[in-house]
Amino acid sequence: MTASVIDGKATAATIRQEVARAVERLKAEAGLTPGLAVVLVGEDPASSIYVRNKNKQTVEAGMASFEHKLDEGTSEADLLALIDRLNADPAVNGILVQLPLPKQIDSAKVLAAIDPAKDVDGFHVVNAGRLATGQDALVPCTPLGCVILAKQTLGDLSGLEAVVVGRSNIVGKPVAQLLLQENCTVTIAHSRTKDLAATCRRADILIAAVGRPEMIKGDWVKPGATVIDVGINRIEGEGGKGKIVGDVAYDEAAAVAGHITPVPGGVGPMTIACLLRNTVTAAARQNGLSSPF
Ligand code: NDP
Repeated sequence: MTASVIDGKATAATIRQEVARAVERLKAEAGLTPGLAVVLVGEDPASSIYVRNKNKQTVEAGMASFEHKLDEGTSEADLLALIDRLNADPAVNGILVQLPLPKQIDSAKVLAAIDPAKDVDGFHVVNAGRLATGQDALVPCTPLGCVILAKQTLGDLSGLEAVVVGRSNIVGKPVAQLLLQENCTVTIAHSRTKDLAATCRRADILIAAVGRPEMIKGDWVKPGATVIDVGINRIEGEGGKGKIVGDVAYDEAAAVAGHITPVPGGVGPMTIACLLRNTVTAAARQNGLSSPF
């Protein structure tokens, strides 16, 4: 068996089109242009690329993009003052602080300072709590992207066995919550899990969010399973050139799975698309409207 490839790039493009249509409607019917503020502290090259892409795609979807680039040496107090201003600015519906932040700044304190209604990354404890208790939340973008891909591939997820490898607050835990909401039977595995291979083999839906290159082997995958690989790992490729691989040994897993996401081109492109979606949801809710999605 060879798995069919889940095309995250194409799905992300479709979501961006849906977002652009929703933005047009909000402009026409409510006089509202959703706005996203992205804050970047320092010059981290990977973060700079992400921020540039976020701004570009925000503008392409018809939204307002506010870019705040601060020096590497910015103090925590100055960053918190900027967050206060963005919280109070009615043109800003979503606030994203690009992580990681420099050492002198306590990330938890900064994330806690963002108005939960504008927390389009979904990292604030209020949004984590709302997600866990089944209330309207702003849901973290990468987990949302994973579940959109799973539903698009499998339809109704009710009753399926889902195994999530990884329990971080930004990927593992929220993706598990979303799968539970979809009525999956969810197992969360982590570095202390005994017999990880056997646990993974139970999965109809296997989500890998570990950060270890190609750790999940082909014989850990149940035949026909849907494999969603969140991992982004840079390794040395042929001729000393850098290469990006996921947490799943792709070729081995694709020989067994029913459906699989590639890296790159799977979960990765879904993250910004879901960020744009969250910004529109936040703008609608802040103006007394329900989410168009
Ligand atoms: P973290 O490092 O925060 O969490 C990793 C998790 O994996 C932890 O829960 C850890 O367990 C678990 N783990 C580590 N080693 C093992 C092991 N040997 N066996 C089982 N479990 C293990 O990572 P993130 O959740 O932030 O990210 C995971 C991956 O996803 C990374 O590759 C990251 O680059 C990628 N990523 C991709 C995004 C995108 O596509 N846009 C967005 C965010 C992340 P424990 O808790 O016990 O330590």
